[in-house]
Amino acid sequence: MRIVVIGGGIVGTAVASRLGSTDHDVTLLERSRIGEETTAASAGLLMRTAVDPAPFDLRFRDRAHEAYRDLFENGDLEAERIGIVYVAETAAFADRLEESATTLREHGTDASYLEPTELADFGIEPDGVEGGLYTPDDRICDPTAVANWFADRARNAGVDVRTGIGVTDVETRSGAVSAVDTDEGRLDADRVVNATGPWAPELNKRVGVSLPLCHTRGPMLALECREPLECPTAIFESKRYVRPAGETGAWIGAYQTDYAEGQRYDLRDRSLPDGFVESATDLETAVPALEGASVVDEWVGYRTVTPDGRPIVGETAVDGYFVAVGMTGKGITLAPAVADVVREILADEVDPEVRSRLSPARF
Ligand SMILES: Cc1cc2nc3c(=O)[nH]c(=O)nc-3n(C[C@H](O)[C@H](O)[C@H](O)COP(=O)(O)OP(=O)(O)OC[C@H]3O[C@@H](n4cnc5c(N)ncnc54)[C@H](O)[C@@H]3O)c2cc1C
Repeated sequence: MRIVVIGGGIVGTAVASRLGSTDHDVTLLERSRIGEETTAASAGLLMRTAVDPAPFDLRFRDRAHEAYRDLFENGDLEAERIGIVYVAETAAFADRLEESATTLREHGTDASYLEPTELADFGIEPDGVEGGLYTPDDRICDPTAVANWFADRARNAGVDVRTGIGVTDVETRSGAVSAVDTDEGRLDADRVVNATGPWAPELNKRVGVSLPLCHTRGPMLALECREPLECPTAIFESKRYVRPAGETGAWIGAYQTDYAEGQRYDLRDRSLPDGFVESATDLETAVPALEGASVVDEWVGYRTVTPDGRPIVGETAVDGYFVAVGMTGKGITLAPAVADVVREILADEVDPEVRSRLSPARF
């Protein structure tokens, strides 16, 4: 089969790399450069932690975690294991974190519930917080480097990885995919995988596929601190998070993954939302190591969010038109598992539960 994967972010490159080990004739088309869009904008957290985790989601994360662990342990990729601590600012959320710690442990994930006083050991001011959930196995990575590693692995396996080529249309014949049009000409295709992240709805529209995908804005500030931030990544109930970055650096982001029907942004708009800088710098009360830090950079990326918070992976109502989209803020964490599922669906080897939980037809 001639398979064209569109989009060279972490998802498209992971898919191409996975399909490289098959007999198919695979091409990856990226209109810019590998891993330089949402993937580069992300915080690069590989997350074991989860609030109110469902068994399916935990198993799906395990798949990705195991794939990554092999790569890290082989020395192929680097990712520092610094852990994540979720911080409750209300008693009700603290209860949910305590229950989540139990669920994670029962599943076999290293997780503990922390009392407010114990949060001080993680660089968090205990006054004004109600408890925490700590998962030490979470890592931070350079997601663009990971996407490039997947792209290199795909090339080595014979995938034709082309950058600087934009797909302008997907052609169909008798209800099935037949080709993609690019700004450099036409390419025949039996299967197309849309892995264009927040741009996915544009291509879907071209073939008449409509999926419930909304955007949420992900602003980020990079800070230079006066002292090293020796703590795990801290995600606050108020959806702000602090991630150590380098020796004395920190990133502060907004973790917004709630689905809002029809919410789509102009993806060229990279301005910070009003009030973000103030709410981010306010965090120095909760994380004293941020006091006196100066802002050295800022950026905005867009998450693509689904109603049930799970990615949409599989074939659509158009024969041969696949999607690997809607990562809902976890695309870096989940990419290898998503790639596995694309390969299994193409080979008709996918587990029925996985197929139905991720299927485009579930909405
Ligand atoms: C601020 C922020 C922080 C985040 N932090 C984390 C985190 O810590 N951990 C985590 O797991 N996830 C995180 N995420 C989510 C994660 O970044 C995304 O889920 C992931 O990067 C999505 O990857 P992707 O390959 O689908 O999209 P992208 O990286 O956007 O890749 C899509 C690619 O498609 C290309 N493209 C688009 N249209 C076309 C076309 N017509 N033709 C050719 N190419 C095209 C684009 O140029 C782009 O390179 C974060 C997201 C944001 C915004």
